[in-house]
Amino acid sequence: MQFDLCVIGGGATGAGSALDAQLRGLRTLLVDAGDFASGTSSASTKLVHGGVRYLEQAVKTFDLAEYRMVQGALHERASMLRNAPHLAHVAEFLVPVYSWFQATYFQIGLKIYDLLAGKKNLFPSKILSREETLKRLPGLKGAGLYGAVAYADGQFDDARYAMALVRSFQEAGGKALNYCRVESFVRAGGKSISGVQLHDAIGRNKWTIQTKIVVNATGPFSDKIRQLASPNASPRLRPSKGAHLLFPEELFPGEDALLVPETEDKRVIFAVPWQGRLLVGTTEAEATPETKMAVSRDEAEYMLRQLNPYLSQPLRVEQSVSGFAGLRPLVAAGDNKHSTKELIRDHEVEVDEQSGLISILGGKWTTHRLMAEDTVNAVQRALGQAVTESQTKRHPLDGAAGYVPQLPDAMVKQYGLAIETAKHLASKFGANATRVLELIRGDADMRLPVVDGFAQTIEDVLARRLGLQLYDWRASILAAPVVGELLCREFGWSETEKSEQVARYVEKIRGFLRGLGLSEA
Ligand SMILES: Cc1cc2nc3c(=O)[nH]c(=O)nc-3n(C[C@H](O)[C@H](O)[C@H](O)COP(=O)(O)OP(=O)(O)OC[C@H]3O[C@@H](n4cnc5c(N)ncnc54)[C@H](O)[C@@H]3O)c2cc1C
Repeated sequence: MQFDLCVIGGGATGAGSALDAQLRGLRTLLVDAGDFASGTSSASTKLVHGGVRYLEQAVKTFDLAEYRMVQGALHERASMLRNAPHLAHVAEFLVPVYSWFQATYFQIGLKIYDLLAGKKNLFPSKILSREETLKRLPGLKGAGLYGAVAYADGQFDDARYAMALVRSFQEAGGKALNYCRVESFVRAGGKSISGVQLHDAIGRNKWTIQTKIVVNATGPFSDKIRQLASPNASPRLRPSKGAHLLFPEELFPGEDALLVPETEDKRVIFAVPWQGRLLVGTTEAEATPETKMAVSRDEAEYMLRQLNPYLSQPLRVEQSVSGFAGLRPLVAAGDNKHSTKELIRDHEVEVDEQSGLISILGGKWTTHRLMAEDTVNAVQRALGQAVTESQTKRHPLDGAAGYVPQLPDAMVKQYGLAIETAKHLASKFGANATRVLELIRGDADMRLPVVDGFAQTIEDVLARRLGLQLYDWRASILAAPVVGELLCREFGWSETEKSEQVARYVEKIRGFLRGLGLSEA
């Protein structure tokens, strides 16, 4: 089959680019070497934001490019929230302050943040009294507290958002394949790329696909694909690793998020309520695409060292229920003198003149739509077409059409579900939640993988479709045989294959627990 475009990488950037291209009428194929969103796109802090730290950095260094990046991201924030209201919502962040001076300093900074968002601002930042702050975050240490500055940003379910992009792309007529790695390129007349050679890890087949253009959206792996196209291409990426830990939410109750405004390495750390847990993160350390993506004991202790001075009851690593780590696909600043935390989270579209490969480098989850728009503009130019308008600014994603915040209550009435179950389903599937329930009504036994498509392994289901792996590592070990059984029936695995899959998954999670020095009990 001949495609106009093949997008390599099914994370935020690739799935977003594939959707944009397909909606502009380009016949598009999206491939990922693993599961969709199995890379950085399911390992973010899950904030839809401009980035208050980047704004502070921009102001302090008079960096116009960084300032514009924050502004662009704040505008994108509005699109992301609007296009999938079941997966992204407004959250309030509290920055604790200890003097009038500190309160004024952060208030001015956050007013600039409000101004940059312009009409797209969610609601204005404000100073909270000490009493109000402690009422909203009762676990905060009260000694010396002046109050807090509260501001609004977005929060989202990153893995499910990526799935919604992929499913919307499919609905628009695109073809999506996971577990298909691009291993090499086909060259027309030895010059520009005219196709890709794929290795399908599930069927163990190799295929060649003809395509007019290839987009490299492989995030932290972008240099590998760039060098596959042009072996002499010099590296552009400076990946950095970031880790997170999750705790039971009752250890730091409240509906608002806490921002620790300055860490020992001059960054910020968040403690955010997230799907019944407290999500703490993140770290920043130079890394390579080969770096192991597991949270180390040192990283866990670093995060708690930053957070605990603000809490009345310090958290301990032993209380954590899970964690995750990812690689930021940062673009190098040229001189390599900057540390990764100083690098701008901006993006760049690179067109390789010789091979024709279009690489979309850098960026953030929040700006994935804008990155996709810029990429597809470059694709249309490369195809010799007029650049047409992107359709994604107002394109409700899979599950968004017909979704209303009252959906869980309606599901409780109609299906007799517990409200917690209804809320969980609505937050994962949006308006499709009722379709899930109809399927279960038909055959309660084995609908999990069928409903969600794409899922091939136990981790695909537990980490990125249901989120149980983030909720509780130990619970996901217990759930593994059940999911293994469902997938076994779906794919016709033998008993040996099923046992191997369960053992592999359980060993991976045990490795995560061991990495933090935690027991399985
Ligand atoms: C710790 C951390 C916290 C973050 N927090 C936030 C946040 O709160 N908000 C925000 O906006 N951004 C955040 N980000 C940034 C954001 O997560 C990333 O910018 C974004 O997810 C990158 O997506 P991507 O699609 O470019 O890369 P990825 O998600 O890594 O996707 C690349 C994909 O390419 C595939 N691939 C690689 N090689 C091949 C091949 N040969 N063939 C086929 N497929 C291949 C991989 O399997 C992978 O799925 C954070 C990043 C990190 C690391």
